[in-house]
Amino acid sequence: MYDYLVAGCGFAGAVLAERLASQLGKRCLVVDRRDHIGGNAYDEHDAAGVLVHRYGPHYFRTDSQRVIDYLGQFTEWHHVDYKVLSWSDGQFWQFPINLNTFEQLVGHPATSEEMQRALEEWRVPIDGPPRNSEEAVVSQVGWELYEKFFKNYTRKQWQRDPSELDASVCGRIPIRTNRDDRYLSERFQALPAEGYTKMFERMLGHPGIEVVLGKDYREVAAEVKFDQMIYTGPVDAYFDHCHGELPYRTLEFEPETIEREYFQPAMQVNYPNDHGFTRIVEIKHATGQKLPVTTIVREYPADYSLGKEPYYPVPCPASKSIYTRYAELARAEKGVTFVGRLARYRYYNMDQVVAMALKKFADIAAAAAAGA
Ligand SMILES: Cc1cc2nc3c(=O)[nH]c(=O)nc-3n(C[C@H](O)[C@H](O)[C@H](O)COP(=O)(O)OP(=O)(O)OC[C@H]3O[C@@H](n4cnc5c(N)ncnc54)[C@H](O)[C@@H]3O)c2cc1C
Repeated sequence: MYDYLVAGCGFAGAVLAERLASQLGKRCLVVDRRDHIGGNAYDEHDAAGVLVHRYGPHYFRTDSQRVIDYLGQFTEWHHVDYKVLSWSDGQFWQFPINLNTFEQLVGHPATSEEMQRALEEWRVPIDGPPRNSEEAVVSQVGWELYEKFFKNYTRKQWQRDPSELDASVCGRIPIRTNRDDRYLSERFQALPAEGYTKMFERMLGHPGIEVVLGKDYREVAAEVKFDQMIYTGPVDAYFDHCHGELPYRTLEFEPETIEREYFQPAMQVNYPNDHGFTRIVEIKHATGQKLPVTTIVREYPADYSLGKEPYYPVPCPASKSIYTRYAELARAEKGVTFVGRLARYRYYNMDQVVAMALKKFADIAAAAAAGA
């Protein structure tokens, strides 16, 4: 008899299982259909000994001290400024757009004020907040930079024009008029020093937690007794797609090990306008691992169909209206807590999922205290 069956062993499931077991003394059975813990954040050493992120690069960053303190119980941190370049018109460009990119574009040294004046000239004014991703970019930097860096990258990634996608998709990428060339803006940017998987092992190491891998939660749910469930898988699958399938994008990863220390000048190079892949990631730049060989991964966006991995919820008006119907069902479902990226059908970063799981735990603990 378990207090909780936890479906999914990514951040959402692992944080809740850890809190429930360590703080409330609950017995948790965590089930994942994959053959490993960690969800999409899973990392492993490949045949050449390079620590790689199996499901695409996971750059941990956060502004939340609470999240840092919580995860810090299970890992030391390797601090890193994530650096990205974009390959376009036969050369590497600094990315995200910053003063260095502007200098590359105009071909001479410039100041922030000059860049601001130029952007003011190039930007396309819009009324009110941007309604889609095209507006989100052109209203800040105009058509030329939009086409150089954003338009085709987004089309490849989502197989939709940026004008069909929510403003948040491209709006998340900072545009700076100073020399800050870090990919991300959060104050804390670091990877777990020994990798994500080691951190998850420690989180799940509590004696009140059991883990079953390589099985669908439904199979296990039919065999064991439990009181409550935490569900972190796709919300449409939970309800047997009764309102239709939610759209997702999936990815295909093509790893290649190369017999030299580094392959490219940065951790990530984007290819908006060349090739079928969107980016080449060489995670060694970020992990800081010292090895004479390296592994790069080319990333190809692909159409999703049942049976593939649902990586990205598609943020557009049509999917929102389907999700609303599933969200209603989820709210009415007794004894099940829906938490995480797939259960909430929304692109959340890892720190946001940790924060969401900690909040859910606080609600559960408060309800338990009120009932006691
Ligand atoms: C390519 C890619 C790159 C990313 N990069 C970053 C990044 O750089 N920084 C960042 O902060 N975030 C990044 N993310 C987001 C990050 O992966 C998520 O925030 C995080 O994984 C969410 O955790 P989760 O537990 O909600 O979901 P997941 O990690 O997806 O875990 C859910 C688990 O549920 C399991 N599951 C589903 N259905 C069932 C079932 N029926 N039975 C049993 N198990 C089931 C799945 O196998 C999965 O392991 C990236 C995501 C992707 C796809």
